[in-house]
Amino acid sequence: MADCLFCKIERGEIPAKKVHEDALCFAFEDIQPQAPTHVLVCPKEHVASLAEAQPGHRELLGHLQAVAAGIAKQRGLSAFRTVVNTGTEAGQSVFHLHVHLLGGRAMSWPPG
Ligand code: 5GP
Ligand code: ZN
Repeated sequence: MADCLFCKIERGEIPAKKVHEDALCFAFEDIQPQAPTHVLVCPKEHVASLAEAQPGHRELLGHLQAVAAGIAKQRGLSAFRTVVNTGTEAGQSVFHLHVHLLGGRAMSWPPG
């Protein structure tokens, strides 16, 4: 998608600190980290949100979570949280599907 921020990051048109890339996804440090580890894991395919995901994306959705868990393991995080905000009211601000990986501090529940 020409005008999508995360598609631009994927194409290297906007700089970001990439921490992972494979055939299906890429991951980079969040610009405004909410925890000592705050990484965004995105599919290379532009999917606007989890609500737009199709049955054909099931493997991709699992892959994003597995990659997030792998980055957490690499960083020695014994506890971490993965979050997918879906829709403006739930806090989604960039409409390219992404999994937040947050870790390195204590977290409360429920989220705000
Ligand atoms: P959302 O609110 O859609 O769940 O998450 C979007 C995330 O993207 C936010 O945590 C925000 O800090 C991050 N973000 C927004 N713009 C940029 C950017 O230009 N670069 C990077 N690395 N992260 C961004
Ligand atoms: Zn996109």
